[in-house]
Amino acid sequence: MNASYFMIRFGELSTKGENKKIFIDCLYRNIKHALKPYPSLKFEKNRDHIFVRLNDEDADAILPILQEIPGIQRISLVVPCEKEQEKINALAVELVKEEEGKSFKIEAKRIDKLYPLQSYDICVATADAIIDNLGLEVDVHNPDIVLHVEIGFESAFLYCHEYEGAGGYPLGMNGKVLLLLSGGIDSPVAAYSLLRRGIKIECLHFASPPYTSEAVLDKLKDLLDVMNAYQERIKLNVAPFTKIQESIYKYVDEPYCITIMRRMMMRIAERVAKKTNCKAIATGESIGQVASQTLDSMVTINNVTNYPIIRPLAVEDKVKIINTAKRIGTFEISIRPYEDCCTIFKPKKPKTKPKISECEYFESKWDWASQIDECVASLEGIIIAEEE
Ligand code: ATP
Ligand code: MG
Repeated sequence: MNASYFMIRFGELSTKGENKKIFIDCLYRNIKHALKPYPSLKFEKNRDHIFVRLNDEDADAILPILQEIPGIQRISLVVPCEKEQEKINALAVELVKEEEGKSFKIEAKRIDKLYPLQSYDICVATADAIIDNLGLEVDVHNPDIVLHVEIGFESAFLYCHEYEGAGGYPLGMNGKVLLLLSGGIDSPVAAYSLLRRGIKIECLHFASPPYTSEAVLDKLKDLLDVMNAYQERIKLNVAPFTKIQESIYKYVDEPYCITIMRRMMMRIAERVAKKTNCKAIATGESIGQVASQTLDSMVTINNVTNYPIIRPLAVEDKVKIINTAKRIGTFEISIRPYEDCCTIFKPKKPKTKPKISECEYFESKWDWASQIDECVASLEGIIIAEEE
């Protein structure tokens, strides 16, 4: 077959005018980034499509990469053709011959209105050639084979197969969210859910050395390396949390420790989100999973901030989260042993229905504000880039 192209149609495009241009430019950059492992591919774009031209790369390997990129609605592997009906007919016969089935239908689309045949006439001419040469029957309702003929401005494109894209908006179009990243299974899956919908992330991790080990940073870097396939140069902010945690265990009754710790995390997260221009905070919480994630707990924790909090996994099943983690390649990294600051001082009986008034009582016993200021002032930022 002739040189083939992936023809990519855009996503949620009620977007018009200048926004459409931003959408296409953003998607174009993201596609090029995702396909960096294939340096011999060629890329083109116009108002209606993005094209990826194949030389002798494996289309079956590239398709699933394209299907993961947010902002793409549909993908087809197309063969270009000169805009002459005779040539279109000949290529149509060649393409349909490779397909299995007895009946077919033509779907024609004329983007270039100067092409002499109208869509209906293109269908008739192409169908006649297939009937004459291959003896197949037309069935417009339930065909075995659908051949698409699209007349563009520079060329015609023919194809028999169309694949679903991820939809959504191109990564970065909708701004950035601050994701609270632990070393567990859930938060990397939450990161993936955001990235897949085109939402950029910056990460915040609370570290409590020497109670938590330095090795956790390697783990987080490895997790974010996986996410690099979706977003380049993700920033990881590491917040020194040891002093606050020590104060919590000094001034707070044991059953409330986790709740207060989470309230402190949220206060810090809000400050960091504002500082880093993130429009919302995201977590890997899932309702009911553990004591700190009951609805009552979440409400009490949420009470310290007005900032929007996104919980992509809020109602997701643990088994499903684990399956996603395995599929995207974070599971094996997440299950490496590590001490999280949540597990280290784990209370024997954490409150499952913590009260806001009780929290406020414990929080009145100590000057947390200056410790929070100190924590925010000493953030360490690491950029997670791919290895060159
Ligand atoms: P995960 O697998 O993501 O660790 P989990 O089921 O262990 O989740 P928790 O430890 O209760 O749940 O944490 C819930 C969420 O709080 C995490 O998904 C993450 O977003 C945030 N979080 C917890 N610990 C940390 C931490 N040390 N640094 C940053 N965020 C954290
Ligand atoms: Mg955890």
